[in-house]
Amino acid sequence: MDVRKSDGRLEEYTPEKIKEAIIEAYSATSEEYNEFLLDSIEKSLYIYDGILTSEIDRQVSEALMSVNKKVARAYIEKASQNRGNKKDTDFINNYISAQNAATGSKYDANANVSMKNIVTLGQEIDKGANIDRNRYMMKSKIKVKFSKKLAEQYIYDLEHHILYRHDESGKPGYPYCVAITMYPFLTDGLKGIGGPSKAPTDLRSFCGEFINLVYSVSSSFMGAVATPEFLMYMDYFIRKDYGEDYLTKLNDVVELSRKHRTLEQVIENSFQQVVHSMNMPAGNRGYQTVFWNVGYFDKPYFEGVFGNFVFPDGTKPVWETLSWLQQKFMQWFNKERESYVMTFPVETMALLTDGKDGFIDKDYADFTAKMWAEGHSFFCYLSDSPDSLSSCCRLRNSLKDGQEDDEHNHTTHQFSMGTASVATGSKCVITINLNRAVQDAVRKYYEENYSVTLEPGMPLYEGDFEANKEGIYEYIRKYLTELTERTHKYLSAFNDILKDFFMNNMLTIYSAGFIDLRKQYLTVGVNGLTDAAEFLGLDVRPNDEYEEFTNVILETINICNKKDRTRDCMFNTEFVPAENLAVKHHKWDKADGYFVSQKHKLYSSYFYNPEDDSLSVIDKFKLHGKNYVKYLDGGSALHVNLKEHLTQAQYRQLLKIAAENGTNYFTFNVKNTVCNKCGYISKHTLDKCPHCGSTDLDYLTRIIGYLKRIKDFSKPRQDEAEDRFYADEKCLNTPMQK
Ligand SMILES: [Zn+2]
Repeated sequence: MDVRKSDGRLEEYTPEKIKEAIIEAYSATSEEYNEFLLDSIEKSLYIYDGILTSEIDRQVSEALMSVNKKVARAYIEKASQNRGNKKDTDFINNYISAQNAATGSKYDANANVSMKNIVTLGQEIDKGANIDRNRYMMKSKIKVKFSKKLAEQYIYDLEHHILYRHDESGKPGYPYCVAITMYPFLTDGLKGIGGPSKAPTDLRSFCGEFINLVYSVSSSFMGAVATPEFLMYMDYFIRKDYGEDYLTKLNDVVELSRKHRTLEQVIENSFQQVVHSMNMPAGNRGYQTVFWNVGYFDKPYFEGVFGNFVFPDGTKPVWETLSWLQQKFMQWFNKERESYVMTFPVETMALLTDGKDGFIDKDYADFTAKMWAEGHSFFCYLSDSPDSLSSCCRLRNSLKDGQEDDEHNHTTHQFSMGTASVATGSKCVITINLNRAVQDAVRKYYEENYSVTLEPGMPLYEGDFEANKEGIYEYIRKYLTELTERTHKYLSAFNDILKDFFMNNMLTIYSAGFIDLRKQYLTVGVNGLTDAAEFLGLDVRPNDEYEEFTNVILETINICNKKDRTRDCMFNTEFVPAENLAVKHHKWDKADGYFVSQKHKLYSSYFYNPEDDSLSVIDKFKLHGKNYVKYLDGGSALHVNLKEHLTQAQYRQLLKIAAENGTNYFTFNVKNTVCNKCGYISKHTLDKCPHCGSTDLDYLTRIIGYLKRIKDFSKPRQDEAEDRFYADEKCLNTPMQK
């Protein structure tokens, strides 16, 4: 007679093995046993050919229960331990054979991990247990704060994939992402977070300690760490070391070592030290590099954000030197990327518009266009009010310029990427699966109004939506309001968990003053918008119907965000990047009988579909413009994929179009080429290495927010990268000619 082991192998049944396991349980509990007892238990088992080992374990523990409960428990524990070890071993073997780290990851593939090694394995193997721990913590807190029923609803919502808690596989209780203020660093160095060092005194110690600071902060957060003040502080230390007029001394030899470096070279060396260190995999983050963001500001933004800033020595930041340093850093980084594949920092340029199609600081707008034309890739953030940026630092929620109203949530400048404002971020993100939510609401509408059950996996019939629009929108609003209110409760439970940690001195970065719990948001993510629109039969392109649809969805959530706000909890909504989630949602929804678009294998993270070649570049700017994103109080990012770099004049024209349409956050991607044979890097998309002629090439693009080699993407993301449409300059105004 054979027993089937958990890995599927068959093994001859041997009574001795069962007896040994029982003896082990008796010995572990120091209980008495005899041969007769062992025999009788073994004989009471019902063994058949092909029986599973787990079934034998179940029968043995049942028999032991009636004899000695203590021994039975010991037996069960040991059996489950064996199963756990077995599972771990299988996991390890699968991980070893996986194509790359992201594909080997069972729970949360992350292309920011390029290497596959024992550190990343160690990180991965805990992920399953972490999900259990995180769920348990949340369930307990929701039960105490609200009710047992809501705690069960939380698990139901997660298991039914209507909601998704981000980074649930991460270490329990970690906040999500942060933009820190570096002020405590100026006064106390790293002391507040356990370091021995005192405050930096010169450029050299600033750079060294800054690296430690970012590593240390990163190890306490799941996601990104932004340091918008990095260059402003660096400028401060350069001025301290080399004088207020350092721009006139750039060519002076300032290093007495045999290298005879000029001041400009010393500054470049400092950039190199910081940026190269940041791109090293961090052991304490499971071999992920720190996810580091920096910001650049045009003059009015600089005045808006840092106008009132005073250094501990009583001096103020200086625009002229900072402006030079910002431009120098961008140019240096762009050049450095020709020699090294470097993901971080993710950069954001903040520019102020005149509310129409012009820019207040025209020089910076020109410079921004020039950097894109030179092949640099970075994000741009536009706003028509420097108040909106500075207001977020002071936690005012409404804009000052007369748009203020009681109903809506105004935090248009907030991004959980953490850029473009000092001291903010997101404590936790729970994402609504919009495609499923919309279809649930519409199903309910048809059941309650027509007693009709919609056919699984199919979109609405043509004309159905038009004829029922008002009713359907009413159901969607009601459904989303309830779901958002529930999500807010879950998020506020997480906020309580963080508060408990804080009260017990467990959140060092917060206690040290780098960030304040009340300055961070609790974020409602959204994903699956375009598929939901396609389900209703809407055309995903700039038109009144699609615009109305996005506003119905986002305004509903926005109003809840405002209504549920408390002293401790600010809510916002973000179009989440959904590096993995977009794949999961698509798969889960398809399997559960929901309509999913046949055109792609994952949900779009944009207001359009990245594979769609029927949209012009300007259409995409419109779809991420004010008419569509106005209620999105946490942000979204437009990624314009291009076949080839445009000219400075063309980029400048696109900036104008962005300003005109109120497109507030965007970047351009041209795939960069890396030669696998000789290491040559080109800013262009090539099919042959110009250096050695090899065709063994890899490409760099933004998987979602950050630049990575496509071969480091998870398998589903590699497939999606293949489908992305890259426009050429003919598609700026008009769609691709077919
Ligand atoms: Zn080559």
